Amino acid sequence: MKIIKSTKELQSIRRSISTKVGFVPTMGALHEGHISLIKEAKKQNDIVFVSIFINPKQFSINEDFSSYPIKKEADIKICALAKVDYLFMPEISSIYSQNEVLIKSPNQSYILEGFSRPDHFNGVLQVVLKLFGLIQARNSYFGKKDAQQLFLIQKMVKNFFINTQIIACETLRQNDGLAISSRNTYLLPQEKKEASLISKSLYCASRIISKNEFDVNIIKNEMLNILKNLNVEYIEFVNKNFQKITKVELKNTIILIVVKFKTVRLLDNIWV
Ligand code: AMP
Repeated sequence: MKIIKSTKELQSIRRSISTKVGFVPTMGALHEGHISLIKEAKKQNDIVFVSIFINPKQFSINEDFSSYPIKKEADIKICALAKVDYLFMPEISSIYSQNEVLIKSPNQSYILEGFSRPDHFNGVLQVVLKLFGLIQARNSYFGKKDAQQLFLIQKMVKNFFINTQIIACETLRQNDGLAISSRNTYLLPQEKKEASLISKSLYCASRIISKNEFDVNIIKNEMLNILKNLNVEYIEFVNKNFQKITKVELKNTIILIVVKFKTVRLLDNIWV
């Protein structure tokens, strides 16, 4: 595995590759969820690039960019073991300059994860567009766990005619159903147990829907019943165009949930 730090070197290496390239963008602190994306990329491509870049532009002022977990050495080992071909770990200064052309997210960026952080998805799309330009992958891999991000990236690729195929990967979960996230490590043992109720509430919703109950309020109340002792930030039902809905449309509905444990926000969703 080769580690690349500079954009110039990356572009020069990329020009020498004519076989099928797969790309997995990450912010590091890699876990099994990230590894599942890398495995998928390995299966479907000849060469796999992974990027690790903690993007300052997607953090708002009250979110602590400086405390985002950094695990450089472990990440390098994980990527080498997963047989990544190129690991791109740029400095902030090589990605951003002064007074740049900016990208403005569409309306769907200002609900849910963008509601209290209106610049979040502008920052996500800005960096992902740069990475797509640098790596020029045939296939790019994103987790369904970040469903709103996935939707917006798919939309950007379409709107800007970017030549990469977005591959949506399933959420990897622990045995108890908890979606794997680097934030899980911040939970106390009791909180970890309680956190498994998040996926239980989503599975419960899916069961109710399979019995032909499509009323969002009724389903949401059942979910809240399971989560009654937890601090639910939101439960929202959207269609695949990320518009809020009041009736579930089969094969066109995503149920999204955020539960807070003190300052730790856990995201999850299910596609029904
Ligand atoms: P991050 O490093 O948090 O920006 O995540 C990088 C990629 O990994 C994103 O596309 C995430 O959606 C994806 N990801 C994070 N957690 C999981 C998981 N548990 N299962 C599958 N993909 C995940």
